[in-house]
Amino acid sequence: MGKALIIGCGGVAQVAIHKCCQNSEVFDEICIASRTKSKCDALKKELEGKTKTKITTAQVDANNVPELVALIREVKPDIVMNLALPYQDLTIMDACLETKVNYLDTANYEPEDTAKFEYKWQWAYRDRFKEAGITALLGSGFDPGVTSVFAAYAQKHYFDEIHTIDILDCNAGDHGYPFATNFNPEINIREVSAKGSYWEDGHWVETEPMEIKRVYNFPEIGEKDMYLLHHEEIESLALNIKGIKRIRFFMTFGQSYLTHLKCLENVGMTSIEPIDYEGHQIVPLQFLKAVLPDPASLGPRTKGKTNIGCIFTGIKDGKERKYYVYNVCDHEACYKEVGSQAVSYTTGVPAMIGAMMLVKGIWKGPGVFNIEEFDPDPFMDALNKWGLPWKESFDPEMVD
Ligand code: NDP
Repeated sequence: MGKALIIGCGGVAQVAIHKCCQNSEVFDEICIASRTKSKCDALKKELEGKTKTKITTAQVDANNVPELVALIREVKPDIVMNLALPYQDLTIMDACLETKVNYLDTANYEPEDTAKFEYKWQWAYRDRFKEAGITALLGSGFDPGVTSVFAAYAQKHYFDEIHTIDILDCNAGDHGYPFATNFNPEINIREVSAKGSYWEDGHWVETEPMEIKRVYNFPEIGEKDMYLLHHEEIESLALNIKGIKRIRFFMTFGQSYLTHLKCLENVGMTSIEPIDYEGHQIVPLQFLKAVLPDPASLGPRTKGKTNIGCIFTGIKDGKERKYYVYNVCDHEACYKEVGSQAVSYTTGVPAMIGAMMLVKGIWKGPGVFNIEEFDPDPFMDALNKWGLPWKESFDPEMVD
């Protein structure tokens, strides 16, 4: 039925590729293209013979628009799935515009030198995508992604008006290392060492990093410390969920992770300012990434579960209502199925589902869209079918 060009072959991409290959009825052909072609070739070798999906591979520098355009013209995909890094979002969108092919990603654009992620750069492409008659689906991972679809689902089925959203991201996995990150260390550390913020009464409220802490008793996991972070889906949900008064995002961190991070910060290892070292310019955070364990290597070692979901409050038929919807994912079960831990799994599965929505034409329309702007029902059904079943509660423990 459709052909996908998948850019990137890291933790998230490897899961999405496994899932596309499980779903050969929709993805009869994929091309895996990344900076390091050997990773693409190794994955192709692992999957061939186990799937009906035809797999090809290519080398590409996704920072280079002419190179991307040439590759898209050669492959002729129905969709480009950008599973590289947020720095490549705009160049890949430019190449999709030039070749008139649909686009999908899982993280919003972030300039490499400012550590400030927001949607304004990608939203600026709306008119051009509309004129070209193609669709860009932004944020088709878990958060953003599934959490945003949860919000659209709550809005559609359970509320006349949503007043508050708390997004809770718990990773209770243990990989046995003193310090490692579950996805790209550079992106992860930039996210957690930034100031926190939440949306309240029409504006952003900024906090110091890790200033706001709560303890929450997560279903199927138990009590964990969680901290308020800035997170990108807050920006689009604040626009797309009408009548919203407050949106917060919390992520769990263990004490050991935070102590290591503080120490690395204090000695300057998390800085993105280049420094001179023996005649070379190096960025301390990039050097740190090079010495930390590769997130892809955590798969076989990680035990425990993740629980990511959203708690909504609001009004239905004149009465106050609470609603909690979440997914619980088991690291070891993910590894057994696709050879990756749950953080990559929970992002790679929704990337495949978002691509399926566009390839099958279930979601369509020219322009640039955040995922909560489409009908959530087919995506919610697909989550149950493709490995991320969700549960709901109408009387959840609340976060104060
Ligand atoms: P990885 O670092 O594991 O993988 C990134 C991949 O992109 C690597 O294969 C890398 O190639 C490739 N790449 C990097 N730069 C280029 C380039 N210039 N040209 C071509 N390929 C390039 O990252 P993850 O898989 O952990 O994360 C992928 C994306 O998913 C990120 O944008 C991240 O922010 C996002 N994410 C989203 C989540 C969500 O829930 N929405 C959660 C987790 C992640 P090489 O092998 O050569 O390094």
